[in-house]
Amino acid sequence: MRSTGKLHLGNYVGALANWVKLQDTHDCFFFIADWHALTTDYADTSSIKQNTYEVALDWLAAGLDPDKCVMFVQSHVLQHAELHLLFSMITPLGWLERVPTYKEQQQNLATKDLSTYGFLGYPVLQAADILIYKGDFVPVGEDQVAHIELTREIARRFNGFYSKKKPLLPEPQPLLTKTPKLPGTDGRKMSKSYGNYILLSEPEAEIRKKLKTMVTDPARVKRTDPGNPDVCPVGDLHKIFSDTKTLENVYAGCRSAGIGCIECKGWAADHLIKTIAPMQERRRKYERDAKLTQEIIAEGDAKARAVAEHTMTQVRDAMGLYQGFDLPQGATSAKQNK
Ligand code: SF4
Repeated sequence: MRSTGKLHLGNYVGALANWVKLQDTHDCFFFIADWHALTTDYADTSSIKQNTYEVALDWLAAGLDPDKCVMFVQSHVLQHAELHLLFSMITPLGWLERVPTYKEQQQNLATKDLSTYGFLGYPVLQAADILIYKGDFVPVGEDQVAHIELTREIARRFNGFYSKKKPLLPEPQPLLTKTPKLPGTDGRKMSKSYGNYILLSEPEAEIRKKLKTMVTDPARVKRTDPGNPDVCPVGDLHKIFSDTKTLENVYAGCRSAGIGCIECKGWAADHLIKTIAPMQERRRKYERDAKLTQEIIAEGDAKARAVAEHTMTQVRDAMGLYQGFDLPQGATSAKQNK
């Protein structure tokens, strides 16, 4: 996950909630991708450190447990950069230029100059991020499947060049998880760049205020007009956060115009606040003890570094890079003889 600062509900519902479950069933490595953040936000790095810290806090708040998974910061494990460099030597340019998100993102973020080497090559860095841990699975959304395919191609090419007999790098599979639709307050996908988000750490009053202005089923122009929760962004919130009884009342009340949108939004706010309250409580605990958060990340960094270095030793060896010359048996150095 990129170091984008405080996380919003979309980050939680779309990824984090699933990670919290995965840590019980898999050996997971989760990292805050501060180098990846630089691929689009390279010009102003003044907030990257704070943003990384905020993501760590939200991870802990959401329930990632350092005793169950390895959580670390990408730039603290330099081996990622080394493997990225080696992969960049073997990755044909055409593979990168045809990644669908490359052109798309350049168009979407037209105000930024993304004609950089780093931006074109970020899927190579992703490949390094995954393969350095010999990951079997990568929990991603549909839009990231092309990147995983590229990672598989890079692994195959590496193995083909340097470890034909016994492939060193496994080809990872995407671990697709169906995540519920979570619209932002304007009905579009929740995103920081649209300004339509609700933070996981948002104070209660702010959540209620944001929900009050949330768009609803456009068919409900007047209070007496019936609506349909299935085409209403507030209805989507209810489906994720509310209990069955409330959901029944929403459907019945909306379709018969028995309830108003303000009342319905109030219920949505109640259930949302109830769901994230324990997370906010945990966040406050870690906020009070910044040293503990720092220690957790440092421990994660060390665990990740050990695994990454082990892989890199094998990679350097497979590529025949210098790790000491092959000496004749019994050779001693002049230095030793002195
Ligand atoms: Fe949406 Fe609720 Fe209003 Fe129906 S009553 S349109 S679900 S906010």
